[in-house]
Formats: sequence, structure tokens, C-alpha cells
Amino acid sequence: MKVLVINCGSSSIKFELFEMPREKVLAKGIVEKLGEAGSRLRCRMNGHETALEQPIADHDEGLRLIVRTLTDTGHGGIGDRREIEAIGHRVVHAGEAFAHTVMITDEVIRALEDHVDLAPLHNPPNLLGIAVAREVFPGVPQVGVFDTAFHQTMPKQSYLYPVPYEFYVEHRVRRYGFHGTSHRYVAERAAEMLDRPLSGINLITAHLGNGASITAIEGGRSVDTSMGMTPLEGLVMGTRCGDIDPALMVTVARLTGKSMVEIDRILNQESGMLGLTGMSNDMRTLEDAAAKGNERADLALDIYSYRLKKYIGAYTAVLGTVDALVFTGGVGENSDVVRRRCLSGMAPLGYDLDQRINDRTRSSETVISTPESRAKVLVIATNEELMIAKDTFELAGA
Ligand code: AMP
Repeated sequence: MKVLVINCGSSSIKFELFEMPREKVLAKGIVEKLGEAGSRLRCRMNGHETALEQPIADHDEGLRLIVRTLTDTGHGGIGDRREIEAIGHRVVHAGEAFAHTVMITDEVIRALEDHVDLAPLHNPPNLLGIAVAREVFPGVPQVGVFDTAFHQTMPKQSYLYPVPYEFYVEHRVRRYGFHGTSHRYVAERAAEMLDRPLSGINLITAHLGNGASITAIEGGRSVDTSMGMTPLEGLVMGTRCGDIDPALMVTVARLTGKSMVEIDRILNQESGMLGLTGMSNDMRTLEDAAAKGNERADLALDIYSYRLKKYIGAYTAVLGTVDALVFTGGVGENSDVVRRRCLSGMAPLGYDLDQRINDRTRSSETVISTPESRAKVLVIATNEELMIAKDTFELAGA
């Protein structure tokens, strides 16, 4: 069965076509800058690269162009769109409505529309993608995979903020957590690497990309995660601040005259590693700068790693015993520097890094701890698209 996975952003559509259950990637690409100058499509299919730069007005035109590209037999395409038998959508926020992947129905769409105020930047393009896909592929089963779903197993003690309870009851103010599809994927892979059932092990999974979150997983169930009501809470990120004193916002507003909306934007887009260094949100750039003696870059790396270390310690306490700590995401998979700094001095807590293996490990499934380490430390390349394809196949194929 051919499954098309779609991830709709405000001005882009990422897509990947899988042959399931073989998990074979048939095509992968993106249309971007929708409705802007320089809109374009890039697609890799059968070893063939397609790159088109042409006006693409909106998501509808974008998806139709994707279909034309995928069915272009001159470029090794699939010949007929009817071969695509199911579509999996990444959806950011499902609130408390869905704890699992679901088939998309009118009722599901209404529930997601009801959550737009919780994710005003992400859910509208996700919903638009669903609407367009239903039009372009009439009658084809559509499946929704939610970033928040995996964390719906968190107990109240993890997800409630200590603020007036009415905020939760009346306005759904609580911690939701994100990156759930990635945490779930690497947890399943970790269980396979350890050759143990996921239900019988405890894991800490650190998804460190431009956005970053860490999750405590007990027997396959998320029991705590660092992102909260929005993806701003938790670890230091590329441009997001992570945990701060909430009174900082009011104080900065008073001191600078900036509005809350402007400060919210700064905390999301101009903080984190970019804010600390004034240079870049890209970890490679910052590691290079630190290696050349740039003190701010070095300090930012220390702050990033120190806060990560504190979360690893906290989640170790939450779980009691940890079978494996997993690093994933662009930084987690590739940055031996961050892995080394955040685990320095952690051997007594159960995390003993093999420095030699750590130094050379990039984006592969590798054990990077010593044989003596109480918990295994793993690097696992995440694959959210494959997870979405698997869920979609499971639901739509049945
Ligand atoms: P993601 O959002 O998962 O694509 O991750 C993006 C982040 O991964 C960026 O900060 C990149 O700088 C970082 N990254 C990618 N490759 C490397 C590398 N070889 N070393 C350090 N960081 C990397």
C-alpha cells in the first residue's frame, strides 16, 4: 500500500511517499514559499532530483503540483494517483481530544478546529492541508497523527500548572507536550535495540533539534515531558528560551515598554542559543565558534548542556530506574559536544559515556555508553514521517 505523509506548514508542504509495510521511501520532497516570490518544489524520487521554481499560489496548488510530480513517469513516478491509498497528516495540537492516531472524519476536524486557539500558528495550516487533501484525493482515507497524543498518558501531577484550577477547567490551561511522534518512534527503536519489550523498560528520550524536548517514558507511556502548554517551555532551544521566571515578561514589559505580544515573539524567535550568542541558532556554527575561542558561544553551550543535565537528573528521579537515555534530533544525533557536556560527571547517576564512540557517532543507531554504564546511552536518528506512515497503514490498511 502506498501511503503519502503530509506535513503542512503556513507556507510549505513537506511530503514523503512510502510503500508500506515494506517501509520503503518512494519519494520525498517539499513545496515551499507558497504564495510568495520564489515558490518552488523539490522532490527526490528513484534517485532522480526534481527542482521546479514557479508561482505556486497556495496549498491547493502546492498539493496538486506534488501529485503531478509523483505521477510523472518520466521521472520514475508512480503513474497513477489512485495508487495512493492512504494519507497521513502531521497535526501539532489535539489538546485532550485525542490520545491516539485517528481516522479523520468531519467530527475530528471540528475537534481540531476547536483547538486552534491553543496552537494558532500550527493547527490552521495543518487543517488546511487536511481540507485540500480531501479535495485532491476524494474518498482516500486520511489519518491524523498528533504531536500531543503520546503525552496524553501524563498524570495530573505532571501536567497541571500550580495556578488557579479554573484556568484548567475553563480555558484548558495545562501542560500538553510536543514532539510526541518522535519520542514514540525512538522509544520503539530503543526497545528493539535493547531487545526488550517497550512495556517492560524505562526510557528518557531527548529530542534535540531546533526545537527541543525531553520525555520520561515508563513502560512505553509518557509520564512527563519538558514542553508545556506551548512548545516554549523546557529546554534551551535554537531560538526559544525554555524555562524562565514567568514574571520576567511583566518586568521586561515595564522596563522596555514592549507589549506582551512582542515579548512573546522575542522569547520564541530571538532567544535561546540565538539570543545568548547574538550570532546563530545553528549548533554547528556555535560549536565551531566555541572551538575557535568565542566565549559567548562556549557559555551558551554550557547553559544548554547544564539545563539538559538538570532535566536528565530530574527524570531519572521520576523513573527510579532508567534502562536507556536516547539522543535524537539534529543536535542529539550529531553533537558529540552537547552529549559530552550534559553527561559530564553523570556516571554515578548511571550515565557513563564512552568518549571515543561518542566523538565519532553521527545520525546512526549506536550505543555510546561504556559496558559499565548502568543505563545505556543511545543515539537514534528520528523518523517522524515513518512513524506517521506506520500509523496510517495500521489504521487505513485494516
Ligand atoms: P533539526 O531541527 O532536528 O533538523 O535539528 C537542527 C539542529 O541540528 C541545528 O541546530 C543544527 O545545527 C543541528 N545539527 C545538525 N548537524 C549537526 C552537527 N553535525 N553537529 C552539531 N549540530 C548539528
